[in-house]
Amino acid sequence: MNFDIVIVGAGPSGLCFAQAVAGCGLRIAILERQHESLLANPAFDGREIALTHRSAQLMRELGLWERIDQNAISPLRDARVLNGPSLYAMNIEHRDSKKQELGYLVSNYLIRKSAYEAVKSSPSVTLLTEAQVTGINTDNAGAHITLANGEKIEAQLIVAADSRFSETRRAMGIPATMHDFGKTMMVCVMEHSVPHQHVAWEWFDYGQTLALLPMNGMRSSVVITLPASDIQQLMAMNETDFNQEVEIRFKHRLGTMQLVSTRHAYPLVTAYASRIVAKRFALIGDAAVGMHPVTAHGFNFGLRGADTLASEIRAAQSRGGDIAATELLERYERKHRLSTRPLFLATHAIAKLYGDDSIPARLLRAASLRIGNRIAPLKRAVANMLTETN
Ligand SMILES: Cc1cc2nc3c(=O)[nH]c(=O)nc-3n(C[C@H](O)[C@H](O)[C@H](O)COP(=O)(O)OP(=O)(O)OC[C@H]3O[C@@H](n4cnc5c(N)ncnc54)[C@H](O)[C@@H]3O)c2cc1C
Repeated sequence: MNFDIVIVGAGPSGLCFAQAVAGCGLRIAILERQHESLLANPAFDGREIALTHRSAQLMRELGLWERIDQNAISPLRDARVLNGPSLYAMNIEHRDSKKQELGYLVSNYLIRKSAYEAVKSSPSVTLLTEAQVTGINTDNAGAHITLANGEKIEAQLIVAADSRFSETRRAMGIPATMHDFGKTMMVCVMEHSVPHQHVAWEWFDYGQTLALLPMNGMRSSVVITLPASDIQQLMAMNETDFNQEVEIRFKHRLGTMQLVSTRHAYPLVTAYASRIVAKRFALIGDAAVGMHPVTAHGFNFGLRGADTLASEIRAAQSRGGDIAATELLERYERKHRLSTRPLFLATHAIAKLYGDDSIPARLLRAASLRIGNRIAPLKRAVANMLTETN
């Protein structure tokens, strides 16, 4: 089999990248290990993805946005950061970004479904599912992949989008800095009696981190971060006990709460690849940069990287150039590092400070929220970062 680009991984980043390079005369293949039915009808996975304005625009351009039921898109008007038991909050308002809302909230399974449908409508993309890569290497002549069924695939360029634990990255000998925070996040949807006013919460409480992402109606995505054993207990509780437990954890600030979805747990591990490209090879999505979810930027960066690389490739293709040229890939790497590295590092510092319950850290946590709240340019910068508007 012969293609111009082979993408490993049909997650949201891999599918969006395929769609971004489709239709410019290139033959594209996506290799995915899951069964196709799981891509066509992805199951609810608990993740509600906060999308920036820039991501929403890219999704419109890729033909994903209109495939999503507009009633399932919830506006994120403002964001509130809380610390410890105090009611004092740092407020980031949509007005700080000169937009009607900071961004939008969309379920991950709906993003995956819309991306799958968009890709299926592109004749230049071949989707090979239940594919298991057993060999991969690249040289001056091309990129070569062997599958478990013995089939061999030749391409000009391989793009890996196979998650933050990317096996393809490892097979190419690219190290990644991985950080295990020793915590697990539990996500689920809950109804509550106090309205959320479309305000997202990030609450760095003592001993736990809570987040609330407002969905349409009287329901929110609830995110609880705790050591894995505590999360296991939460996951195992019957619904009545669970509802009570979450109400107490939220200090009844949302009134009565009721679980209305399945519960899902994710280990809190971040990853940053030490190199994002190699000969005829590039990493995108979480395989390149696996962000801490506290900034809600993982997929936003995935989309941005897919767009950056696709723009370079489309430009090379239109002038009859090499779509896997070293300079092209290095330009992509430079741009993607520049847009992701500062926030990746800042997030680690914030997560470290707000995960520290010692007395000096508690004082610093409270002081930095109050100082941040009073510095208008800082709040505007945070709002612009959250919305990805300049
Ligand atoms: C709780 C939670 C909340 C989040 N909230 C936000 C948010 O608000 N905003 C935001 O922007 N981001 C958020 N994220 C991050 C976002 O979900 C990820 O950044 C995004 O899903 C990454 O997409 P991806 O396609 O790169 O990787 P993945 O979604 O991990 O997909 C990888 C794909 O590759 C396939 N695959 C893996 N290995 C192989 C292989 N060897 N061969 C073939 N196929 C393979 C997998 O089956 C899968 O289909 C959140 C994450 C979590 C856990």
